[in-house]
This record gives sequence, C-alpha cells and structure tokens, in this order.
Amino acid sequence: MKRSKKKQIVIVGAGLIGSVMAIALASKGFDVTVVDGAKHSDRVERNKGRTYALSRTSKNLLFNLGMWDPKKLNVSPIKNIVLSTKKDSDDLIHHLAEFNEESSSIEPSSYMIEDFYLRNMLASEINKNKKIQLLDSSEVIQDETNSFETKIMLSDKSSIRTEILIISDGRESGFAKRLNKRFFSKSYNQVAIVGNLSHDNAHNFTAHQIFLSGGPLAILPLQGKRSTFVWSLPVEIGKKLSDSKREKFINYLMDNAGDILSNPSLVGEKKIFPLYLRFLRESIDNRKIFIGDSSQAIHPLAGQGLNIGLRDVASLVDTLIKGKKLGLDLGSIDLLKTYESWRSFDRISLATYTDLINALFSNNNFYLKAIREFGMSAIEKSQLLKSFFTKEAAGEYGDLPDLLK
Ligand SMILES: Cc1cc2nc3c(=O)[nH]c(=O)nc-3n(C[C@H](O)[C@H](O)[C@H](O)COP(=O)(O)OP(=O)(O)OC[C@H]3O[C@@H](n4cnc5c(N)ncnc54)[C@H](O)[C@@H]3O)c2cc1C
Repeated sequence: MKRSKKKQIVIVGAGLIGSVMAIALASKGFDVTVVDGAKHSDRVERNKGRTYALSRTSKNLLFNLGMWDPKKLNVSPIKNIVLSTKKDSDDLIHHLAEFNEESSSIEPSSYMIEDFYLRNMLASEINKNKKIQLLDSSEVIQDETNSFETKIMLSDKSSIRTEILIISDGRESGFAKRLNKRFFSKSYNQVAIVGNLSHDNAHNFTAHQIFLSGGPLAILPLQGKRSTFVWSLPVEIGKKLSDSKREKFINYLMDNAGDILSNPSLVGEKKIFPLYLRFLRESIDNRKIFIGDSSQAIHPLAGQGLNIGLRDVASLVDTLIKGKKLGLDLGSIDLLKTYESWRSFDRISLATYTDLINALFSNNNFYLKAIREFGMSAIEKSQLLKSFFTKEAAGEYGDLPDLLK
C-alpha cells in the first residue's frame, strides 16, 4: 500500500453534521477531508421528506457561515408553541401551555427546515470550497492510531493519515463499536412515524405537541399550507400504522389531532424510525472526537438532535482554533479534554431532559398525569419559567461558542 499524505483534519460522515463541521472548519482556514460511504444522491434519497426544528443558535451558525438564506432554504418560523394532552382518541384535547412570540424575544426561537434544501445547500458549498476535499462512496472499514497520527483504511483499499479524526458516522456509529466505546443505551420501545401533510387551513406558524398516552405527536408548520408530523408510538401499533393505507393513516391521525388540521392529506411517503437513547460516556478517544448522533442520539420529542450536534460543531471549531493559535497538536489529549468538558453538561442535560419528559408523558399513570398537569400549569403561570423554556428551544444557554452567537 502506497504511503498517503498526512491530512490536517479528516471527518468521517458527510451527513448534515459532518458537512457543517467541514464548512465551519474551512471558514476558519483549516484544510479538511471528508469521507462518506454513500454518494450525495443516496444521502438525499435516504432522508427524503425529513424536516427538522432548528433552534435560533443553529440558525446563527448557518448565518455566520453565510448560508442562512430563508428563501433558498424554504424555512418556516415557529411563532407559537402549543402543548396539550389527550388520553385516547375519544378524549378531548386538554390545553396545557402556550408559548408565543411575545413571551420570547424579537426573533422566533426556532424554525422548521426541510432536509432536501439544507442538504443541497451544504453540498453545493462543499463542492465549491477549495479547502474541502470530499471523498464520496468511500466507507471507512478500519482504523489504527499511534502517538503521532490516526490512519483510516477505506473500502477502495486506499488509506488516509491525519492529525485528528472527527467522527460523525451517525447513531449506529460503526466507529464507536469498533473502538469498544462505552455508552449508555436505552430502548424507548417506541417508533416515530414522520411525514408531511397538505391541508386547507392556515397553520399560523404554530407548532403543536400533543402528549398522547402512547407517545407525543408533534405537528409543525412548513411553508404554505403544509405541515410535518413526528408521531412517537409503541412499536407494535406504530409498525401497523406505518404499514396502513394512506386514508386509514389520515383518519387515525385526525382522531388524535382534533381540529388542528382541516382536510389533511399525505404528501410523499411516511418514514418510520426506531427510537432509543444512545449516549457515549466519553465523546473523545485517542486522536478522535465523536460529534452529532454518533456521540448522542436522543428522543426526537423536543426536536433537538440536530441542534445538539450543531453545538458540538461550533464548540469543536472554537477548541481547534484555540489549539492552532497556541501551536498545539490538534489531536493532543489535553485539547480534546477541553472540548469534552465543555460539552458534557449540555449533552447530559438534554439526554436526561428528553428521557424524563417521554417517561412522564407517554403513559396513563394517574400520579404521573397529576404531576405533569401540575407542572404545566406552573409553567403557564410563571413568566420566568416560560422564558427559560423558550431559551431551551432557542438553544441559548451555557457558555456559547462564537459561531452560535
Ligand atoms: C424521527 C426523528 C425526528 C427528528 N427531528 C429532529 C428535529 O426536529 N430537530 C433536530 O434538531 N433533530 C431532529 N432529529 C435528529 C436528527 O435527525 C439527527 O440528529 C441528525 O440527522 C444527525 O445527523 P448526523 O450527521 O450526525 O448523522 P447521519 O445523518 O446519520 O449521517 C451519518 C453519515 O455517516 C456516513 N457513514 C456512516 N458510517 C460510515 C463509514 N464507516 N465510513 C464513511 N461514512 C460513513 C453515512 O453514510 C451518513 O452520511 C430527529 C431524529 C429522528 C429519528
């Protein structure tokens, strides 16, 4: 095997997180190589119809990288958030709490963004950026690390050497398995069905979260008279419902969503995801850093998975800039430890928070029901708590890295 040239930084995975990581590092003068086992068209196809709630700080990141173009990205602001409960399809919807623009600041705390537009914008930025080299259809099959470098072996039998390896290979991270990383994991015994809808009524940019006994149903505004839904359900029911014909699915959705949508119909196909928490105890390793879903995969009920990954990105950029200024080896353990301790509070608190809310709301237990209703009326009454909750949705807490400001 020919000895390859050593690269400054290599990223494994050109998903949304790996792509933003590459662009952010290039914007600060780093040379980056990105490898992905699939090609762009396959990544687009795999994520067709997906949407994400993007927090204000994630929006700031795209803005700071010169990529926040609401028209091109077809984004939809979230101006109101309504939380409610419903015991079963015969029960009425009980209003729990509402957050609207007035209780937040001038800007919306979050935006809905569609995968197709975001992924294509990132791909075109990567293609024209001279500091980024993208190797598509190149799966990493092996790796080895010594005191000076990490070497990855690719499926085409070539290899790449690097000072630091950033791993963003997704929630089933092959890297974490190969390195025997210790992680905390828990199945939610739920699946999420996601898809898009068109309807006759205007949504008024309101995001709804209805806590049903089997799991939360989120209905979120997209541009035009369109909405997206993320419905967490027990595995058996979810699988049956996901396989059901479109009309049956819509009827069941209407039974649970009350009169939020008028005359909805499915646009495109629905997708199903198994739900679990998977959390690396340490997101660093010898000359390696895990970011995004490979580091923490959380319950989607708060719409925060991509956002927390983007906070990994921005914090890592700040850390590597400091390392470069001090002339440090970018893969040095001291530098990686600085990053790890910066990120640990956010990672642990969001994983715990989403886990607790799901446990609290996804069943019909009388005491839990009383606690959550008491909890929500406390939120409704307290302006202080309200602003804390909107800050959480906006991602504005803790020591923010520069790119998120
Ligand atoms: C139902 C659901 C709804 C969600 N809704 C929201 C939301 O509203 N808001 C939000 O913020 N987040 C949301 N999320 C979370 C969000 O989808 C993820 O956090 C995000 O997509 C993770 O991106 P990633 O780049 O880390 O991983 P991935 O998208 O999984 O990318 C991993 C990449 O690595 C590549 N790869 C893997 N192994 C290798 C290898 N060995 N060699 C080379 N390449 C490799 C893959 O081809 C892939 O391109 C949701 C998640 C789910 C399940």
